[in-house]
Amino acid sequence: MSFETLGLHASLIKALTDSGYTTPTPVQEQALPAAMAGKDLLVSSQTGSGKTAAFMLPSLHRLAQDESAAPQGRTPNQEKQAASARGERPRFKAAQPKMLVLTPTRELALQVTTATDKYSINLRRTKAVAILGGMPYPKQMQLLSRNPEIIVATPGRLIDHMESGKIDFSELQILVLDEADRMLDMGFIDDIEKIVAATPATRQTMLFSATLEGTVGNMARRITKDPMTIQI
Ligand code: AMP
Repeated sequence: MSFETLGLHASLIKALTDSGYTTPTPVQEQALPAAMAGKDLLVSSQTGSGKTAAFMLPSLHRLAQDESAAPQGRTPNQEKQAASARGERPRFKAAQPKMLVLTPTRELALQVTTATDKYSINLRRTKAVAILGGMPYPKQMQLLSRNPEIIVATPGRLIDHMESGKIDFSELQILVLDEADRMLDMGFIDDIEKIVAATPATRQTMLFSATLEGTVGNMARRITKDPMTIQI
């Protein structure tokens, strides 16, 4: 099995080849076809199994297809420059991400963002930003003003931005909960429920966790629709 046979977008294949990835890992082999087709996933796998690429590659594939289909308009930055050239004052518009990845820690959020940068290097619009507790607000406002397609975040800080109208999830297509069991252990259940409730019911949901039993299993079943379960 190769990334080509899985039918992954050519820009992603090139990025993977350039990064020295030749073959999908077992979790990627199982997750990619279903996730590329938009199916919900419940995945029990460990760090080191290649789980980040297992959710990020199919998501980038779906977003890249949107990107290819969309007219080649201006990027948010070019739009801002054009408005300022017309003498218009910049006004703040809520970011409307298409994908959200929730992680329990800042370190994991940064790892996911770095991996995404690597995989999306050949895509024009499909980029990720990290929104983390402890980061200065002005810096985060600057990141959000670029209207990133992908937000990788820890739940607490994300809720602040959501409640103050800086992020609007009405256009969200893909929601990923990474290390969901750890997020619940850390007491993020209410935050997660609030965030999930703010996203469209039509979204694709992928949940990764060391275990799919108990509380995390209950939440997983509540927030997914007819999911495919993968145990590695
Ligand atoms: P993760 O389980 O997502 O933390 O990934 C573990 C490590 O494996 C990371 O350093 C990835 O860059 C690397 N990796 C993921 N998928 C592949 C692959 N198909 N081929 C080679 N390396 C990979």
